[in-house]
Amino acid sequence: MKKKDIKNFTLDELKEEFENSGEKRFRATQLFHWVYKKCIENFDDMTDLPVAFRKFLHYNFYLRNIGLLKFVKSKDGTEKYLFKLEDGNVIESVLIFSNKGRITECISSQVGCKYNCLFCESGKKGFTRNLLVSEILNQVLFIKKKLKSNPHNIVFMGIGEPLDNYDNVIKAIYILNSKEAFNIGARKITISTCGIIPAIKKLQECNWQVELSVSLHAPEDKLRSYLMPVNNKYPLYDLIEVCRDYVKKTNRQITFEYILIKGINDSLNYADKLAKLIGGFNFKINLITFNPAPGSLLQATDISQIKSFREKLVAKKIPTTIRVSRGGDISAACGQLKSLHLK
Ligand code: SF4
Repeated sequence: MKKKDIKNFTLDELKEEFENSGEKRFRATQLFHWVYKKCIENFDDMTDLPVAFRKFLHYNFYLRNIGLLKFVKSKDGTEKYLFKLEDGNVIESVLIFSNKGRITECISSQVGCKYNCLFCESGKKGFTRNLLVSEILNQVLFIKKKLKSNPHNIVFMGIGEPLDNYDNVIKAIYILNSKEAFNIGARKITISTCGIIPAIKKLQECNWQVELSVSLHAPEDKLRSYLMPVNNKYPLYDLIEVCRDYVKKTNRQITFEYILIKGINDSLNYADKLAKLIGGFNFKINLITFNPAPGSLLQATDISQIKSFREKLVAKKIPTTIRVSRGGDISAACGQLKSLHLK
């Protein structure tokens, strides 16, 4: 009989599962506390569980593992973790430390990515598979064990398109958010998408407080399709329309991400077009400094130009922040460390 992977269950599902096997429902809550609060992953160490119940767990369930393949630390403190999954596939997580002592973990949602954005290493080797709920959670659990506390923020900005693995990502967020598990506030969790329109509509129906960030990177279709082929399927104007609807119905703000790449999308003319495209709504822009992969022909925009770009947007009353990419010396941008490892 194939053992079931406990970390793929929400609390309600696990209660149901135990009840159907003649066990008490509250055992699921006890188990959640052991795994996600105390970070204990060996049934025999869960000392308040009866021996017979531990035997039942051994016989029917298991706790999936994640292995650390490589760890690198940047001069700026950013840490990158290359993880090996049970089937040998490799994913990454990045830990970013803010000056105010906040810790953000950037996690992966897929092995590879099918969207092949021009500036991103994750898409270069194509898509392999979706991550399981347990594989998503294991990235956070690993860091929790190391820090002896939760990271303050979780962002789905690692390898893969999270809304392309919708069900598993949503389930993982439920568990991250659950008071009986990680208890990380929904507002501390960000889903970052390249703009999968049907999934954004679906997310809107969830009506919860998770943050949504949409990668724009260009204010017109031709340029966006060049940078992000997904734009051919979900064009810019349709995407903006859906985002407007999302903001109206959820009363939540959306952050648009815009990576500035020298000579490609960083002219002030594009700043004007961007302001026109998104102005008048509860949208925010995050300008990101580009972190080129080794050998990349694309270059980062100078900081003076980034500041001028920002001023243009601010002058049009668009809240705009600049996010300086961290960990440039350790290939911390999405997919870079994995690409180096696979070379
Ligand atoms: S930026 Fe995101 S959607 Fe685009 S290839 Fe990279 S992981 Fe995929």
